[in-house]
Amino acid sequence: MDLLLAIDGCVAACHPGNPAHAATTDALGRCLDQGGRVWLYAGAAQGYEDGIRRALEDEARCGAGESAEAQALQRARQQLAAFAHGKQWLAALAGDCADCAAPNPAQDRLLRALQRFTPGSIKVLTLDPAFIAAHPDQALTPAAYLDLPTLERRIDFIDLPGQQSFIRPQLEERLHRVLHHGRYILGPEMEELEGRLAQYTGAAHCVAVASGTDALLISLMALGIGPGDEVITTPFTFVATAEVICLVGARPVFVDVEPDTCNIDADKLEGAISPRTKAIMPVSLYGQPADMDEINAIAEVYRLPVIEDAAQSFGATYRGRRSGNLSTIGATSFFPSKPLGCYGDGGAIFTNDAGLALAMQELRVHGQERRYVHTRIGVGGRMDTLQCAVLLAKLDRFDQELARRIAMGQRYSQLFAGAPGIKTPVTRADRTCVYAQYTLQVPGRDALVAALGARGIPTAVHYPIPLNAQPAYRYLCCPDCTPVAARLAAEVVSLPMHGDLSEGDQDAVVAAVMAALKH
Ligand SMILES: *Cc1c(COP(=O)(O)O)cnc(C)c1O
Repeated sequence: MDLLLAIDGCVAACHPGNPAHAATTDALGRCLDQGGRVWLYAGAAQGYEDGIRRALEDEARCGAGESAEAQALQRARQQLAAFAHGKQWLAALAGDCADCAAPNPAQDRLLRALQRFTPGSIKVLTLDPAFIAAHPDQALTPAAYLDLPTLERRIDFIDLPGQQSFIRPQLEERLHRVLHHGRYILGPEMEELEGRLAQYTGAAHCVAVASGTDALLISLMALGIGPGDEVITTPFTFVATAEVICLVGARPVFVDVEPDTCNIDADKLEGAISPRTKAIMPVSLYGQPADMDEINAIAEVYRLPVIEDAAQSFGATYRGRRSGNLSTIGATSFFPSKPLGCYGDGGAIFTNDAGLALAMQELRVHGQERRYVHTRIGVGGRMDTLQCAVLLAKLDRFDQELARRIAMGQRYSQLFAGAPGIKTPVTRADRTCVYAQYTLQVPGRDALVAALGARGIPTAVHYPIPLNAQPAYRYLCCPDCTPVAARLAAEVVSLPMHGDLSEGDQDAVVAAVMAALKH
């Protein structure tokens, strides 16, 4: 549960002379210990400052000498600045001021701001009995908070709220800027984002699109792939990879994967090439680039384009180059749970081919060359400006999160080293894995998933059914054609992984896995 500080609560916390100081400090400490957040309301900043200043003046009991007043003001500002560190400022929004003539306007604004939260997920911390009596479900005293039973600390599979608390000011500023300029489609944020992502990957061109699925679809369309064509890919991936091949009327040809990296096995590729093959689509699964140079070399012999499905690997490197910029085309996804995720759907395509980039730009707006002149058959596949704004707010912290993901992925593997029955993920020496998923291979996976669930540890299975065993795709070939993928589907399990995972939580996950496997 989070806490939102009323003015009196903030004064008590900042002022050691206040009778409620100790209890308030304890309450805030307990909130943070239990994984909650402490919020200050931006609309009450002046109130916080005034309250702290008055407390300092009372303490000094120094008449009302002008210099004492100025000193108290100065100190109050410094105290508030220091206190706010590590806490969240809750934005004051227009609707908070809907009733400036309310009997208690300051309280009214605070309560309106509170309504933006999920009911029960936050309470106002105050010392005012009248406030609590009027709003018993929304407000409590520090003492009452300290009397609440201890909450079980929850481990999240992915912690998006935790990440948000580090970028909230940038996020709000970016989103509000879009609300003000109003260019919701193809707005300036899209161009800014494309420039920054192109620079990040080193690709000459970046085309922002509506999703990772659209990124793959538009890539195939730009290459002119259609009915009668074949595209070689892996059966051990998210369904979108094969889906888009079928959507353009072509046929996916599945090649089995490597048992350790779970990526497409480049050694088996050549045997799948036919005169109808028009492209190769490897997936950089779990955040580790596939054997792109080996694949590119084979593709070159047969003059085939290579589309990297980099939906899970944005940020990863391969022989010093970035995923997304390792072949003819790279396509990534900004689905919220991906290593770089927006708050809805989004995706991007990378290429160094200007002709392909132009085709992709036109295809994402209904094949439009100029307004209402349609030279190609396209799709409605633009990334909207608000989602671009979210990513721009996230980009500054992205490298730090990546470094942390990589460190925590490696730490998982160290902690599991030598444990019987567990295969940890393998990363080749010439590349990095950004651990979109940290995925173990464990025979008896389903029992482990159930045991971890019972211990409150969330897991996921990426993926339980290879695509050639899926009802809609079974007609393509049988699962026996790709025995490695079939085995992996029965044995893989992904553990909690995100850029703010703590070592303590990770230790708890590892201990739970070890304990579950012992039984
Ligand atoms: C997530 C994902 C996609 C699809 O991306 P969306 O943005 O959800 O459309 C495609 N391929 C792989 C491997 C993915 O993980």
